[in-house]
Amino acid sequence: MRKITLSNGTMVEVECLSCALTSGMVEPDGGVVVETEHFHAHQDVAYPIKGLIILASKRHIYCFDELTEEEKIDYINLLTKIRKAQREVLGIEHVYYFYNEDTTHHFHMWMVPRYDWMNEFGRSVESLRPVLRHARNQMSDKENVKEVLDAINRLKNAFREAR
Ligand SMILES: [Zn+2]
Repeated sequence: MRKITLSNGTMVEVECLSCALTSGMVEPDGGVVVETEHFHAHQDVAYPIKGLIILASKRHIYCFDELTEEEKIDYINLLTKIRKAQREVLGIEHVYYFYNEDTTHHFHMWMVPRYDWMNEFGRSVESLRPVLRHARNQMSDKENVKEVLDAINRLKNAFREAR
């Protein structure tokens, strides 16, 4: 078991945070954005960036080549659906995707929207860590967090309407 402190300050003791989130044992701030039989999407509120989505598998796996045929199809369909909603609901033109197989949690893709303010941290992969750090340290004010939660709700509504 590992002790993990969530962004809202609560501490949970879990084997795997991704399992805890995708099974509903731990409720992510803002709730589930969208889920399917095999995948679960939520905002990572530790980094208050509008539309930053984490797409995690429900199964405790680590690598792309562990996906079943059914999961592969479910995954690409859900990923593209989220991408489309980021564009149509939040006006996000570009997204950076980050996924590492040697994660301490389990299979999850970060979908990080690109905003103009990020340009000062460079482009592409080298900008990712400074951008996230900046968001966490400089953008955790009430007003921005409210905007982030509002964006989550708009995305949720879009998925609800699309069903
Ligand atoms: Zn897990």
